[in-house]
Amino acid sequence: MLDTVVVGGQVVCEGTVVAATIGIQGERIAAIVAPSVTLAAARSIDARGKLVLPGVVEPHLHYDTGATYFANIPGAQVDDVESASRSAAYGGVTTVLPFWWPPKGERLAVFLPRSIDDGRRRSYVDFAPHCCLWPDLDQIAEIPQAIALGITSFKATMGYRHSGRMSDGYYLAKQMAAIRDGGLMMVHAEDGNLIEHLEEQLIAAGEVGPKFYLPSRPNVSEQAAIEQVVTAARILGCPLYVVHLSTREGLELITAAKARGERVFTETCPHYLLLTDAETRRQPAQVKIAPPLRTEADCAAMWAGLRQGVIECVGSDHAPFALADKERGFAEGNVFKVTFGMPGVETMLPLMYSEGVRKGRVSLPRLAEVMSEGPARRFGLYPQKGTIKVGSDADLVIFDPSVEWTIRGEALHSNATWTAYEGWRVVGKPEQTLLRGQLLLDGERLAAGPGQGQYIARRPFAD
Ligand SMILES: [Zn+2]
Repeated sequence: MLDTVVVGGQVVCEGTVVAATIGIQGERIAAIVAPSVTLAAARSIDARGKLVLPGVVEPHLHYDTGATYFANIPGAQVDDVESASRSAAYGGVTTVLPFWWPPKGERLAVFLPRSIDDGRRRSYVDFAPHCCLWPDLDQIAEIPQAIALGITSFKATMGYRHSGRMSDGYYLAKQMAAIRDGGLMMVHAEDGNLIEHLEEQLIAAGEVGPKFYLPSRPNVSEQAAIEQVVTAARILGCPLYVVHLSTREGLELITAAKARGERVFTETCPHYLLLTDAETRRQPAQVKIAPPLRTEADCAAMWAGLRQGVIECVGSDHAPFALADKERGFAEGNVFKVTFGMPGVETMLPLMYSEGVRKGRVSLPRLAEVMSEGPARRFGLYPQKGTIKVGSDADLVIFDPSVEWTIRGEALHSNATWTAYEGWRVVGKPEQTLLRGQLLLDGERLAAGPGQGQYIARRPFAD
């Protein structure tokens, strides 16, 4: 007798959609059978009329980890591991890969174990963190220790010099040389030096309104950064993952690198698919993010990249700053004084389904690939995570594809309590989720408390 069966649903996985019954024993999927086969189980979940998706694997999530982000502009992140993972759980996410920024100067040997303990005590979902890197040779020397702890992906940023986080070409090379043995290098690819100059020029000319934000970070600033980092990765033999891709020019570079057989990978975010610079002009405080929202042509390129497989993951870039702080930054109408970032983990799956699948921009099986299987494969969690297969963790989303609802920031579960998608009508919502066989999301509530999430140590990447 099994613990649980999920019956009557359309199971979306590994490129197909099939009617099937899923049997769960303990934390794992034990059987997948035709709907005509009856499996005896203690509990039955009725998924008639519903889609059964693999639990979403969120590759790009931020919350406060004790590090100062933007020294020169106001605002701190209002989510911690508990509230960010709660919001994720309501959005159909069962595994997160959060960006852990160590406080400047803190040793990874102290920071990482402490953060793992904190996550084990307070996370609602399973977690497999990325370690963020300062331009710091002592920290680079600790990278093998992080890999030994099971943290195999690392992120550096090519921007944000004012907060001391910018890794220039020298540090990127040192980081890649340390990461290539068993790790994956992730880069925020915007040319921070070029951007800083353009921003200073605009400010000097008094051109600080929302319409000057995109010109301060033009497409070429992403293109130039990707070109630099792809070249460095090739020279150093390090696998590379470009986070939050936003430009058609960047997509072309990554497409070409892949065609040459290089280990270069990328993701995009719902907002680079759905929103443009028009939104920056309309609600500048909310949607000031980096890279900036761009043009319809860039959105179309991102959709094409998702369909064609060059973009293999979708991440939210959930960066939960308080709207009051962002609005305070904009008090003088100067977009350059607004903190970067917006929440998004909870709305990601409904938006991608409603705007992507229902509008014919991406197929249903491809949706499951870019939101579950792709991130799980890329970050070394597959097949434990990201798929519906016998032996995999029983992480499932029972998704109602017909319910129509309105996105309201105050109804979401991040401490940010606001959304750039306020008032959007969407169709489709995660109704229930299972995390390793246990009910997590149950309608309008969570059936499990914080501390259910497990730390997932990853093996070094081998190739
Ligand atoms: Zn980010």
